[in-house]
Amino acid sequence: MTFLDAVRRGLAPDGGLYMPDTIPVLSNDFWENLHRQNFHEISLQMVKPYLEDQFNDPAIEKIISDSLNFPLELKPVQDGVDILELFHGPTLAFKDFGARFMARLFSEKAQQEQKEVTILVATSGDTGSAVAHGFYKVPGVRVCLLYPKGKVSLLQEQQMATLGENIQVLEVEGTFDDCQALVKQAFLDHQLNEKMELSSANSINIARLLPQSLYYAYTIGELQKRGVHQPVFSVPSGNFGNLTGGLLAMKMGMPVQGFLAATNVNDVVPQYLSGSGFKPKRSVQTISNAMDVGNPSNFARIQFLFEESDSEIRKHLTGYSFNDSETRTGIRELYEETGYLACPHTAIGYLAAKNQIASDRKASHCVVLSTAHPVKFRDVIEPLIAEEIEVPERLLKWLKREKKSVAIGSQFEEFKSYLTDTN
Ligand SMILES: *Cc1c(COP(=O)(O)O)cnc(C)c1O
Repeated sequence: MTFLDAVRRGLAPDGGLYMPDTIPVLSNDFWENLHRQNFHEISLQMVKPYLEDQFNDPAIEKIISDSLNFPLELKPVQDGVDILELFHGPTLAFKDFGARFMARLFSEKAQQEQKEVTILVATSGDTGSAVAHGFYKVPGVRVCLLYPKGKVSLLQEQQMATLGENIQVLEVEGTFDDCQALVKQAFLDHQLNEKMELSSANSINIARLLPQSLYYAYTIGELQKRGVHQPVFSVPSGNFGNLTGGLLAMKMGMPVQGFLAATNVNDVVPQYLSGSGFKPKRSVQTISNAMDVGNPSNFARIQFLFEESDSEIRKHLTGYSFNDSETRTGIRELYEETGYLACPHTAIGYLAAKNQIASDRKASHCVVLSTAHPVKFRDVIEPLIAEEIEVPERLLKWLKREKKSVAIGSQFEEFKSYLTDTN
């Protein structure tokens, strides 16, 4: 099966997640000379082994430059800590990387096959807006987004639910896990699959993972310029797609000391890393709501990448989890000490980095992945710093638009009828 086939299918027929059967390893020369290349040159080299059987170099370059066409910024904030800002795309969150790259691949596939595809996405917020924007008006693709009612921010809701056209949005009476369960059940439903071409665009889609490995390599190059090597990446995590992207880069040969799996109280992975088994739980709502995941799907990929070895996983990943009150303190402290304003997700990554540095005799350099722009979480942040955050004009326009979402319950039959009736 080609990479594009796996993108198109989303989930394997048995409900499993796709992974490349072998991970291509790039040369030492490539990894040692990242500092000589820009983000697009690095991306081309890393993406090429997965797509070269279907596209030539200029076509791959075009996919990359059409989708990853917004800036990345690495900012030193404290001794030994950098923040990698991944939120300069259209929806101000890192999910723009995966969603835009994936939309480009879907559009290539739709052109090849000339068949309409229905893409199902369960979202706890940022995935939805990134996917909606990535696919907006892409010919041959209908997108159906499901989000838990009352559990996403107003701005997130407005950004995904006001587009219309080929973007359908369902407001589900339930949790994110209920939304994810509905999507999973749809893929296993024979009748639906006979009627329409279903596909997924969650962080389970393999097309999301690949672009999420590129900025890790870019960061290594930027640090090489300063003589810093083997950093630790602190990754604010929910469904663990972002962190899995980093592990993919590591398996491709990227030199790195390790990764911090930083979560809110939805701490299934940190619990696992501290020695207990992997025990999914119902998700709990927090102020870092894009990480409220009780059963992170990408854990299966992490196991695959380490050949199911618990000890190997625990060697490369260290878990940290923080509750809302610690997160609020983290936001305030970082702002007071450095003037840097972090969103609640990023603040959790920062807290993990700070704890790691305090406990780490090797005093590694930490890079915190900043996953969203703080302005998206004004309600949480403004009371903490007693200041107003200025909202960029390009966001304000979303708040004025009319919401077009449809309310449904969490029962599968209702979702199924909606899909069939609107097809
Ligand atoms: C999705 C998201 C996360 C979590 O990323 P995963 O890949 O699901 O682990 C963290 N922060 C923000 C802002 C997000 O949107």
